[in-house]
Amino acid sequence: MVVPAEIRLYGATATETGLVLIHGACHCRNISFSLTLEPDPVEIVARACNCSFCTKHGGVWTSRPDGELEVLVQHSALVSRYAFGTKTAEFHICTRCGVVPIVTSRIDGGLYAVVSVNAFEGVEPSLLRRAAASFEGEEEDTRLERRKRNWIPNVNYVEIGA
Ligand SMILES: [Zn+2]
Repeated sequence: MVVPAEIRLYGATATETGLVLIHGACHCRNISFSLTLEPDPVEIVARACNCSFCTKHGGVWTSRPDGELEVLVQHSALVSRYAFGTKTAEFHICTRCGVVPIVTSRIDGGLYAVVSVNAFEGVEPSLLRRAAASFEGEEEDTRLERRKRNWIPNVNYVEIGA
């Protein structure tokens, strides 16, 4: 029997429909996420962002415009949403353990996100194709249009408790 590539590569859950689930969480698991991807990718682009926040945090992000993301927050009171610059993106920082698993941006009423590859669990590191990313100096409307094209568009953000 041939093992499907997505199972072999991801070490993640392949559903019966052929979709792939990648799980991630902050260190204390207050913020966790499940990213659903089509089975075709043989690599995940991991962008090391050089913005002033990501430089200090070592932020490395991925997103796919055909992905679906479910975010589960155990205690919303233990999440700090930090924004700076154009204030169009929110970094979700777990105030208990300090990890930043996701960034969201609300554009035209829709919630978009990128997830931290540093928060991935059980994903084969060789699957990550590391790349640099620089968005400094980008105009705000250009930035929002880029997010609409590239970020994960289907974000289900669930808060369980305060
Ligand atoms: Zn945490």
